[in-house]
Amino acid sequence: MDDRLTWLVAIGMCLTSGACDRPDPKPDEDASTIQRHSAASTESSSPSETSASSKTSSADDTSSSSSSASSDSETRSTHRARGGWKVIDAHTHLQPYAYPIVRKIFERQRIRRAINLSGGHAPEARKAHLDRADQLPGRVALFFNVDWESIDDPDFGKQTADELEAAVREGFAGLKISKALGLEVKTEDGELLPVDTPRLDPLWKRAGELGVPVTIHTADPKAFFEKPDPDNERWKELKQAPDWSFHGDEYPSRMSLLKARDRMVARHPDTTFILAHMGNNPENLDHVENLLETHDNLVVDTSARIAEFGRHSAERVREFFLKFQDRILFGTDLGVQAQPRGDRLAYSLFLGSVREEPPTLEDIPVFYKRHWRYFETDRDAVQHPIPIQGDWKVHPIDLPDDVLAKIYWKNTERIVFAPWLGRRSAHHIVDRARSMTP
Ligand SMILES: [Zn+2]
Repeated sequence: MDDRLTWLVAIGMCLTSGACDRPDPKPDEDASTIQRHSAASTESSSPSETSASSKTSSADDTSSSSSSASSDSETRSTHRARGGWKVIDAHTHLQPYAYPIVRKIFERQRIRRAINLSGGHAPEARKAHLDRADQLPGRVALFFNVDWESIDDPDFGKQTADELEAAVREGFAGLKISKALGLEVKTEDGELLPVDTPRLDPLWKRAGELGVPVTIHTADPKAFFEKPDPDNERWKELKQAPDWSFHGDEYPSRMSLLKARDRMVARHPDTTFILAHMGNNPENLDHVENLLETHDNLVVDTSARIAEFGRHSAERVREFFLKFQDRILFGTDLGVQAQPRGDRLAYSLFLGSVREEPPTLEDIPVFYKRHWRYFETDRDAVQHPIPIQGDWKVHPIDLPDDVLAKIYWKNTERIVFAPWLGRRSAHHIVDRARSMTP
């Protein structure tokens, strides 16, 4: 999600007392071909899904045969999502009041944990996030955001590093940098601040010293830098979100932004960078591959880019995932915003991108199932999780179980949650020791 955007006015109402408990949607074209993402991997699908799955094909199924979907309770089928994974979503944006809704999403989708990249920056905002994230103790890791307001201050880098340090001491787990760096933040001379500006070196360095990762989103899809007209392959999306267009002379080129980022991460080998959105170059996996090979301090997340990297052949993407199986984090770019209205919560959702019709909670199962299907099946060509991102199909990559486990949760556990939870328990021990001091 773009941190600059105000949320779409996608409002659904639900009672905090439980009216959020809408039933799961009826099996649709996705549910009919994907096994429920259930806790037991060998569990057969629910009766409604079983009967639906015996239909010959779904509306968006261009490849499956009618005989393929019936035997996965006995032998491992590669044609349907296997399910049964615990999952960490490494790329979400959750507002402080959203946790009652987030809890329901987690329960239904078997999401064990998530990184909330929108943890805010001001002390009051940080406190609001920390207090409310504790409604799901140990399950949501907050990342600190930068306030660019005082960028012209000569000490900006150090001051921001100090703020990050304060946030980490309070319980934050990392730093998130939005694409505003490179595309929006300007210095007093009116120039865009380059991604590799030395002004920010103290910040990157401090993140490394603190042992917290930096998720960084630089540039955007290639199509967002091309003319926003009906011939643009992402026109539907650009029409909904015109400020996602970076076409024109006032913006740096996409590759110059990515190259500046690459120079910056090379200068900070002791800091771990999570390059959001498949390094923001899913269009060119060779570039991302070269980057990962050259720099040990980098990992990527998959958020909101299956539509792009899924366009390459399944063989190519599978090879990439196998090669970098320890350095890819599953993420979706799920956003949940909520505000109390009397005894109700008004909420709005963001499922990886804007939509023509605002999404509701009922859209969430299909959103996640389309992810499972891409990673877990060997079908030929399927709908990607975020249809507005383009009128094409993607080619599922059928990852082996041990690789799926790493991508779905083990890598994020190792890189983000284990260090964070370790610090938290150390702090608790210190706090307890203090409280016992007479
Ligand atoms: Zn995002």
